[in-house]
Amino acid sequence: MKRIPFQDLKHTNSEDMEAYVEAATDVLRSGRYLHGERVRRFESLLAESCGARHCIAVSNGLDALRLIFSAYITLGRLKKGDEVIIPANTFIATFLAVTSCGLNAVACDVSEKDFCIDFSRIPLTPCTRAIVPVHLYGNPCWNREFFDMAREKGILVVEDNAQAIGAESAEEGFHGSFLTGHLGDAAAISFYPAKNIGAFGDAGAVLTDDDELASTVRMLSNYGSREKYVHEAAGFNCRMDELQAALLTLKLEKMDAVNLRRRQCAALYDSLIQNPGIVKPRIYPDRRQVWHQYVVRTDRRDRLRSFLEEKGVATEIHYPVPCHLQNCYRGSDSLIVPSPLPEAERLAGEILSLPIANVSDEEIRYIADIINEF
Ligand SMILES: *Cc1c(COP(=O)(O)O)cnc(C)c1O
Repeated sequence: MKRIPFQDLKHTNSEDMEAYVEAATDVLRSGRYLHGERVRRFESLLAESCGARHCIAVSNGLDALRLIFSAYITLGRLKKGDEVIIPANTFIATFLAVTSCGLNAVACDVSEKDFCIDFSRIPLTPCTRAIVPVHLYGNPCWNREFFDMAREKGILVVEDNAQAIGAESAEEGFHGSFLTGHLGDAAAISFYPAKNIGAFGDAGAVLTDDDELASTVRMLSNYGSREKYVHEAAGFNCRMDELQAALLTLKLEKMDAVNLRRRQCAALYDSLIQNPGIVKPRIYPDRRQVWHQYVVRTDRRDRLRSFLEEKGVATEIHYPVPCHLQNCYRGSDSLIVPSPLPEAERLAGEILSLPIANVSDEEIRYIADIINEF
């Protein structure tokens, strides 16, 4: 029987393995493992490819988000207890970043159209100080009218761009750009190995056009220090290694090709899956989606999942439990759920992610045939 893994990182990275080994060897022999030219070079390349003025390479995506919120607190632009609106259907890191900084997370419902925040039901209150649009599954989440209104009220917009590097929204962001990571006030990126651009371990980045925010994030990421042994804030150690920077530089050069292939896979799934009981994800002709996940929906999700499993196809669920229902927030004062979140809860029971990283056209045909037979 054919076996199609959900994602095989060995396969993902095999293509350019010689170049990776060569780059890694250079770093190992260089004697320079932190604070070097490879990190600086990677930062300028990433800033350029996302159109942002500043890029700070950091340890992972969660730390990237945490550093943004901590920097806003350090700068006095946010304070403990302020409310931050977050879509309930996201990876837990989005919530943890906010609550670990002493801010309150306000869970918001999502839309079944693109799985992102539902702009018609954002629970804005006079206490709202920030909103986190999450570009879930590689879907740019941006609504110019809404965010312009939020900005006029002094609400900060922090993009969680962990899943959508290289995506483009249909509507312009604050800086005249359409690229995710450069739409709002600041953005966090993750290079977790399974992301579209994945490191060989953990890595992340902060992007912003705000000079003051950028220098504060950099200071906080390095023990709250701008000058050796002078600590102006109680910071962290959240730096990116030279090793990851060298390897990620090679990967970043191939970002467009990687994202293009994912778009081709999504288009092929879309044309081949023809089962009226399965809802396919929308392809938006006016957005550039980067398909971190290809997520179908059905009210018989668990049966579809076993059916595929029996035929050798591995699938995943992103995410089976919405963040506001996770145990870590049971009885917590830092999570606010102002109203029921029916869509987020319903979707969690219907969504199924199909393999999209490194699948061949033939494998997509095989998977689509099984789904049509279901
Ligand atoms: C992966 C991810 C993160 C966290 O990134 P790490 O690098 O794993 O810390 C945050 N938000 C979302 C939406 C993610 O998918």
